[in-house]
Amino acid sequence: MNKRTIILTDQENRERAQSRKREIEQEGCHCTIYQLDERIELKELLSSQPLGTKVVILADDNVQTLRQLTKAVGFTNRDITVVQGEHESSRIFCSQCHHIQKVPRYQEYQCSNCQNHIEPSDHFSAFHQAYLGYPVFK
Ligand SMILES: [Zn+2]
Repeated sequence: MNKRTIILTDQENRERAQSRKREIEQEGCHCTIYQLDERIELKELLSSQPLGTKVVILADDNVQTLRQLTKAVGFTNRDITVVQGEHESSRIFCSQCHHIQKVPRYQEYQCSNCQNHIEPSDHFSAFHQAYLGYPVFK
């Protein structure tokens, strides 16, 4: 049986979406990419998908909104995979002064409170609802 996956992505993440598509197809699944800024009727698109379709959301902005919308159409959490775009801003928790700041997800930045250079890690703190950032020493 051919499983179907659709990838919802934006211009900035198109290349990552392409490589994701190749991975999915190597597993023998059918995969289609929809770029969100092509003015697609997302709700219509989602509700016209056959039962059992998996949805991958790979975008910079509004990923949570997209997830909500996808769920509203009837998809469950198990059907939906959210992949954060590289340029997305996230809350980063400064390990030096505990200041939380919204910055691009994968870029070093200077903490506006303690002035340390901080590098965001992949460690997400549910308590702070932020990724932990560690100082970069040069
Ligand atoms: Zn700080």
